[in-house]
Amino acid sequence: MKAKVRLYVEHPLGAGQSVPLTREQAHYLFGVMRLGPGAPVALFNGRDGEWRAEVAEAGKRGGVLTCAAQTRPLQMPPDLWLIFAPIKKARTDFIVEKAAEMGAARIIPVQTDFTNSDRIRQDRLQAHAIEAAEQCGGTYVPEVTDLHKLDRLLADWPDERQLMFCDEAEVGAKKSLADAAPGPWAILIGPEGGFSDAERKRLHALPQAHVVALGPRILRADTAAVAAMTLWQRALGDWA
Ligand code: SAH
Repeated sequence: MKAKVRLYVEHPLGAGQSVPLTREQAHYLFGVMRLGPGAPVALFNGRDGEWRAEVAEAGKRGGVLTCAAQTRPLQMPPDLWLIFAPIKKARTDFIVEKAAEMGAARIIPVQTDFTNSDRIRQDRLQAHAIEAAEQCGGTYVPEVTDLHKLDRLLADWPDERQLMFCDEAEVGAKKSLADAAPGPWAILIGPEGGFSDAERKRLHALPQAHVVALGPRILRADTAAVAAMTLWQRALGDWA
């Protein structure tokens, strides 16, 4: 029988391993999905691949699953960070969800000169990344970091990491990733207000930066994030 539910857990997974459920997970599996003892569940924890497990104990407030066999090995995404400036709540949630589906290894919200919000709910965004991994069949969950300041992030920029700087000022220019080499990368998407002149100057001067235009129209930040990840995955990532 194929598992109806694919669940992320924090517990280690391995043959014969018992996995205790939280109250919320038990409610979902037994209350909402109506699984009973013996029902199959697909489990992953972001480290041990995907496992076929069975319900061993089902209760109202908890339960236990037992791992049977690994169904897929851990598949890491390419070493790609998505750096973006948070926008309105629903659009920020969308960006995190899409980044997890598209195969980003790390998601870094940044505060820029024109960023509208100075706070994020990191735990909520991380939960969106987990949910996206559950539904898209991923065996890895990207880490969503706390809000960083863009200038600090650039000041500590790692030598070996290249940066796909999506600059709305280049709209319509023919600037793509044509001559870029694989390796550790990051994509940078600005806020609704775009980048300030000071930020643009600094980014253009960063040796690891590749300035990229996303076609002849200005895209909203959420569209731009998906478009940029598509281009990068096709040119240098695991779609290539
Ligand atoms: N308010 C700005 C647009 C910001 S769009 C203006 O009108 O100029 C939000 C972000 O999406 C930008 O900071 C950039 O990172 C990205 N983006 C949108 N359209 C783009 C394009 N055609 N080329 C490159 N980046 C783009």
